[in-house]
Amino acid sequence: MKLGFFRLSLRRWRRIKIVLLLLVFVFCICIVDLRTIFSEISFALFGHPNFAIELPVRNLDSCHQEIHFLEHQSVNEELEITLEYLEVLYGNRSLGGGHFTPVPPDMCSSVGRTAVILPYRNRKKHLLQYLYHVLPKLIRQQIDFTIFVIEQNEGSTFNRGMIRNIGFVEVMKYGQYDCFIFNDVDTVIEDDRNVFYCNPSAVRHLMSGLDRHNYRMPYFSLVGGIIGFTPEQFKKINGYSNLFFLWGAEDDDLYRRIIAEDLMIERPPNPIGYVTTLKHKQDPVSDARLRIYRSLDGYYKSEGLNSLEYKLLDIHKMRLFTRIYVDVDENAIRKRFF
Ligand code: UDP
Ligand code: MN
Repeated sequence: MKLGFFRLSLRRWRRIKIVLLLLVFVFCICIVDLRTIFSEISFALFGHPNFAIELPVRNLDSCHQEIHFLEHQSVNEELEITLEYLEVLYGNRSLGGGHFTPVPPDMCSSVGRTAVILPYRNRKKHLLQYLYHVLPKLIRQQIDFTIFVIEQNEGSTFNRGMIRNIGFVEVMKYGQYDCFIFNDVDTVIEDDRNVFYCNPSAVRHLMSGLDRHNYRMPYFSLVGGIIGFTPEQFKKINGYSNLFFLWGAEDDDLYRRIIAEDLMIERPPNPIGYVTTLKHKQDPVSDARLRIYRSLDGYYKSEGLNSLEYKLLDIHKMRLFTRIYVDVDENAIRKRFF
């Protein structure tokens, strides 16, 4: 009898445990979803003080020649592209080191010089796909731009924020640029009219919809993928945090910095801001990222560009880009901050 009762209660307990686990699971999903839903609704109803979404596209009237823009180009990830092939296609347009200027050079003189910063390690196929799709678009945009590939050495966890900071600091030493566009190497603009220029009055988030999210934003305050700053704006927020040696949250921290400095954010209207994201395996999601994100609240003034430490290994001018190769001492940084 006792044994039967014991068995029954054990079985019941197991069932209760499963129900409890299910409830916790549903609760978690609800929190995440409700947060997104509420923020979407409030953004839709009241707007956001820091967002100006439907800004006009840059006026290209200053360019003397009529530019024929391609409004949509789909990405074929199956294409086998080699660097040699890309150099044949676009090499003669480059002044070396991935520096391209409008032809003739004074065509869009009002625009300024753009540095395109690609954080990179071990994603050769994406880099080639990116160049194949984005280079001709930037050439058609008639802007003065240089492509920099910032590569992190092996031996440490990839640090997405820190690599972008290093790109900024090195490129500032390298030449005069008034616009920094940080572009994930797997995020490809689809529309020629998504022009790579910066706006001193607003940080420019150059995407308004992702292919894998049915051309919507996964969440409204997302500032990942492609984002453009003037040097003044980037210095004002003290760049990215250097502490996210793991996937995710460095972008959310960046958003917090932009808001704390009361900067505006603008996005191109649809469909100009549509992007394609190239497929890859997702890095493991770490719970530590939330802990770091929470513990860094309010510390951005002392942690970022002004606390950046790294070793420059090499700068090499290729035909289609300049490669900046760096080493990061992960252990030293972790010891200093955690
Ligand atoms: N990245 C890289 N190698 C890596 C991890 C990241 O080159 O091992 C660069 C690359 O430019 C990539 C960007 O960092 O597009 C953002 O990383 P990831 O694509 O993994 O982020 P997610 O797609 O999850 O936003
Ligand atoms: Mn990615």
